Amino acid sequence: MIRLITELDVYAPHPLGINDVLMAGDKILAIAPNIILSGAHVERIDGRGRLAIPGLVDSLVHITGGGGEGSFHTRTPEMMLTQASLAGVTTVIGALGTDATTRSLADLVAKARALDHEGISAYCYTGSYQVPVRTLTGSITDDIVLIDKMIGVGEVAIADHRGSQPSVAELARIAAEAKVGGLLSGKGGIVYIHTGEEAEQLQMLHAVIEQYAVKPRQFYPTHINRNQRLVDAGIQWTRAGGIIDMTTSTNAQFIAEGEIEAAEAIAYCVRKGVSPLSLSMSSDGNASLPVFNAAGELIGLEVGQVASLYQSLQALVLQHRLPLATALATVTESPATALRLTQKGRLAPDMDADLVLCEPDTLAIDTVFARGRCLVEGGRARVKGTFE
Ligand code: ZN
Repeated sequence: MIRLITELDVYAPHPLGINDVLMAGDKILAIAPNIILSGAHVERIDGRGRLAIPGLVDSLVHITGGGGEGSFHTRTPEMMLTQASLAGVTTVIGALGTDATTRSLADLVAKARALDHEGISAYCYTGSYQVPVRTLTGSITDDIVLIDKMIGVGEVAIADHRGSQPSVAELARIAAEAKVGGLLSGKGGIVYIHTGEEAEQLQMLHAVIEQYAVKPRQFYPTHINRNQRLVDAGIQWTRAGGIIDMTTSTNAQFIAEGEIEAAEAIAYCVRKGVSPLSLSMSSDGNASLPVFNAAGELIGLEVGQVASLYQSLQALVLQHRLPLATALATVTESPATALRLTQKGRLAPDMDADLVLCEPDTLAIDTVFARGRCLVEGGRARVKGTFE
């Protein structure tokens, strides 16, 4: 299938101006003005009045469900295809959460393959909150080398009472094992870090890079918008060469307790001079968001939404007035680069044809292509998951 979409305002994420986008199969073939191509085998689409942006890359989704911290009935459901595709997310990276007992890595790999089959690109992390981390083969390195879908290890929990309080040496070892796995398989091999609310914040990561031959970009810490102090600690981490990730799923209670909305945290960091390529957002989709009453009793449960990622992108541009290219980088190029997903996160020739067409004023999504396949048209799902 060859598709030519004409006269789009292209953000790659950097602005390229009005261009035609030529896609063949699952790849972008060319982005240029006035591409001349015709014939019965070419589908032409008029793109006038629309923006083209890269499909979003969500570096943390509990694709097989998460939660369970309020007992068995509080386990959250799996993510369905359209929860990502309708929200412009064309790449997800799945992870286990707190529960690596009733949730398994085998299930995670199977679900990633299922989502891939249904239409988006899905990967996952080996490992778990707890250390020593869970693996499929017995080794982080072997998992990353041998299992196609596994591109790193995570979420490994630091500064969290639910984690195993790993030592500096243990974190360094995990980073080294993941790195070798990445080198041998041409993958990122990063360590995705769940950052909890304990006072030690990111000190463990600083200790690892000071004491061992581990580079800051080996780690990818998330939930940095948990509170203002952690955001400031995150900025220090970017000054040391690291990247930080903000979580877009939240609820009123978390905000009341001091969490900063992801878009607000990103805007704050940009104003502090942090490069957008050292900043990213992820949804933490399908995580549980427990609601407690004043007595600390669980009174309700909400589920993290992948769609919050796109809503936060809109907030960055429409409320916080960040330039579109800067805002876009945090959900496309930045996570793709951090995860070494070389075919993702940018619109350019030879990249995967993952693109979102949206309205210039509201950024409302009109059309979503994932690896060249049209999953969303006119804001509605054209392709649904197997059980949707
Ligand atoms: Zn987490």
